[in-house]
Amino acid sequence: MISVVQTISLIVPFYNEEGLVPVFADKVIPVLDEISCVNWTIICIDDGSKDATLDQLVALSFEDPRFQILELSRNFGKEAALTAGLDASDTDAVVIIDADLQDPPEVISQMVKAWREGAEAVLGRRVDRSSDSGLKRRTAAWFYDLHSKISHVQIPENVGDFRLMDRCVVEALKRLPERQRFMKGLFAWVGFRTVMIDYVRTPRAEGETKFSVFSLWNFALEGFTSFSTIPIRLWTYLGTMGALCSLLYGFFIVIRTFFLGNSVPGYASLFVAIVLFSSVQIISIGMMGEYIGRIYMETKQRPIYVLRKRYN
Ligand code: UDP
Ligand code: MG
Repeated sequence: MISVVQTISLIVPFYNEEGLVPVFADKVIPVLDEISCVNWTIICIDDGSKDATLDQLVALSFEDPRFQILELSRNFGKEAALTAGLDASDTDAVVIIDADLQDPPEVISQMVKAWREGAEAVLGRRVDRSSDSGLKRRTAAWFYDLHSKISHVQIPENVGDFRLMDRCVVEALKRLPERQRFMKGLFAWVGFRTVMIDYVRTPRAEGETKFSVFSLWNFALEGFTSFSTIPIRLWTYLGTMGALCSLLYGFFIVIRTFFLGNSVPGYASLFVAIVLFSSVQIISIGMMGEYIGRIYMETKQRPIYVLRKRYN
């Protein structure tokens, strides 16, 4: 039986969630208190909120010293906010959870149990995504399917950021220096002994999602291009195939002209060929641009986030 007290940090990103701060605290604190032999730190990251979120978080930290508040200098995005939280933690394990209570806090006790039984990473897996729209579920399924086909890193399906990680996993994550952080991929890349816990994802307790369809599309593109070079290599094969086909066709035309003469038809086929191949070139240039842009962003070596102030 374990009797030593362990330390765990709960890492929670907040972006314009003023209606949620008290709800979150009321719901989470009793759940944490029920888990025995753990000293909790609750690291809340204010990701540049424009409403009263920060004031409420700071008030909370005065009431309960277990709350540590990190204030970022502007909105850096959820991935950067999580990185700030991970950097600030020094506990035996960390648990990442959304502020909107879509990840049920009750699951945390099961995660801690699995961790005590030897797991180094305990992932929450959504068994029922009926709270997400049909479109979001379908596109998510396509994303995982394609990602697992074109990348060496297997991202487990229906697993979000809700997870417990041992210190060794956090230290490994901190050694990944990339600025463009596709967290799901980074989590999968570091590996470690992993256990899944199924849970039902509920609707948001309050407010609206911060991710639009367009930002999800960019997120998917980020996922593909930061873990696979196949999208860029594809164009080499396509180009080679196209070149081979046109060579064969050219050869065929020469032979045909040789035997049958030239009657100058074929504007339509020429036009189609030109338009088709120039658009293929533009797409491939765009694809390369994606990667070059990534190289550019990485070479600047800017910090992933900037902290304005730390409370507690
Ligand atoms: N979030 C953040 N920065 C952002 C966008 C979101 O810290 O730029 C936080 C947000 O406050 C919430 C979590 O990330 O705690 C998940 O956001 P949301 O619920 O909007 O995402 P969804 O559940 O729709 O994927
Ligand atoms: Mg949410």
